[in-house]
Amino acid sequence: MTTPQPVLALTGIHKSFPGVKALTDVSLRLYPGEVHALMGQNGAGKSTLIKVLTGLYTPEAGRITLDGETIAPRRTEEAQALGIQTVYQEVNLCTNLSVAENICAGRFPRKWGRIDWQAVNAEAKRVLAQMDLDIDVTAPLSRYSLSVQQMVAIARALRVQAKVLILDEPTSSLDDAAVQRLFTVLKRLRSQGLAILFVTHFLDQTYALADRITVMRNGETEGEYLASDLSRLALVNKMVGAPPDQQPTRLDSRAPKTGAPVLKAQGLSRRGALHPLDLELRRGEVLGLAGLLGSGRTEAARLLFGADTADAGHVETGEHSGRWHSPRQAIAAGIAFCSEDRKHEGAILDLSVRDNILLALQARAGLRLVMNHEQQQALADDYIQRLGIKTPNADTPIGQLSGGNQQKALMARWLATDPAVLILDEPTRGIDVRAKEDLMDAVRALAHREDGQGMSILFISSELPEVLHCSDRVLVLRDRRAAGEYRRGELDERSVLEVIAAEPAATEAA
Ligand code: ADP
Ligand code: MG
Repeated sequence: MTTPQPVLALTGIHKSFPGVKALTDVSLRLYPGEVHALMGQNGAGKSTLIKVLTGLYTPEAGRITLDGETIAPRRTEEAQALGIQTVYQEVNLCTNLSVAENICAGRFPRKWGRIDWQAVNAEAKRVLAQMDLDIDVTAPLSRYSLSVQQMVAIARALRVQAKVLILDEPTSSLDDAAVQRLFTVLKRLRSQGLAILFVTHFLDQTYALADRITVMRNGETEGEYLASDLSRLALVNKMVGAPPDQQPTRLDSRAPKTGAPVLKAQGLSRRGALHPLDLELRRGEVLGLAGLLGSGRTEAARLLFGADTADAGHVETGEHSGRWHSPRQAIAAGIAFCSEDRKHEGAILDLSVRDNILLALQARAGLRLVMNHEQQQALADDYIQRLGIKTPNADTPIGQLSGGNQQKALMARWLATDPAVLILDEPTRGIDVRAKEDLMDAVRALAHREDGQGMSILFISSELPEVLHCSDRVLVLRDRRAAGEYRRGELDERSVLEVIAAEPAATEAA
């Protein structure tokens, strides 16, 4: 299988959002008749790359070629006309329309200038039959499960003769049987010469299907590999960014001064999100959570903060013990949570840095916040100085700051509430290397105080070196349960990686 020319090639792609560099010099080559897995952790830039490819985003730099010719699609329809079919991560179908209408929408078969409904239904049946799916195509899509809806989205893409089929995390909502059905279809399409780009973060699925793998990390292309040449361990290594030479990271192995436990979770669990988890966090301690996407890190954080309600188990802090029913209870108990979703739950881009910092305090105190303008200004200035937030002044809209400085301002928002426990979920996502180091220094300084009375921090990051660098203790999660625990000093990258990359137990794989 030596194909000299890729059907689709991207080179030197750059794409930024306000304050976030989503893609830096990214390249990708796709050959006819292959399934190519695009892998990387949450936030690596996979979806953005695909949206650049299909004209939803315009890159600041870079080149896309199709069959050797430069293309610059500006709308999805343009990409489709060129033979690039895409099923996005966020399936956008109209559930109130019939299955057949969804499959044919935009390209209805017509007769005498009018939509030929018989042909529409027949066409839908034909495409679904390719996927061994036999359902009533005249029924509204809402009648069917999410997994059938996902298959319909794929059927819609398959209807048109394509050169390239792109699937962004198509299997996240599919059950095992549906995944098998999808894979059978994809293998058939591959043998017909289609180039398939398959975005996933499931290792098992990658090895079951992919010929070639491109790994993205942190907005950059880490590398391109033949699936048969890349071991599971090596792949995870590349996704989480451990150094290839396996040199042990230099760590300060002195145990920090820590105090009594401030947060304890026992048997904390939620169906479909987290198996019962025990966890203890001491005063002045940084506890890192390591693991791949879907391993349960964010799920654990959300349960500890009451953003989701646990089905079982409980959380204990100084005075409170029980199950959180809302974040308000957790906040009252001194817990703060900087979510990974900066865009939706975090910065309000057109508000000033000061107002962004004051938000959590305001929310907690409600109308009782009796702070005059000078006091608000002093508080904001204090955090700008303490965390080294680079901004012309506190009145600047936060959207004008770089990603790293936005992130620090969000941390300041929670620090202003003087929490006992600070949960940081992916605080370094999308920010540059210097800003990352800065932020990690700030995290360690908050926790590590001479008197052992610093803040307690739960630090979540997809970048293993960061977790190892920041944490006094690391809890490794895999398949939504704890899989290993390491203290600083006994921390060694190789063993953490092996735990992360381990195959699922035989019983679970079956
Ligand atoms: P992946 O699909 O690999 O999980 P994404 O491409 O969705 O990653 O995101 C890459 C980075 O770009 C992340 O830091 C994300 O927060 C950021 N990002 C993605 N889309 C937007 C957007 N529309 N506006 C601002 N930031 C975005
Ligand atoms: Mg994505």
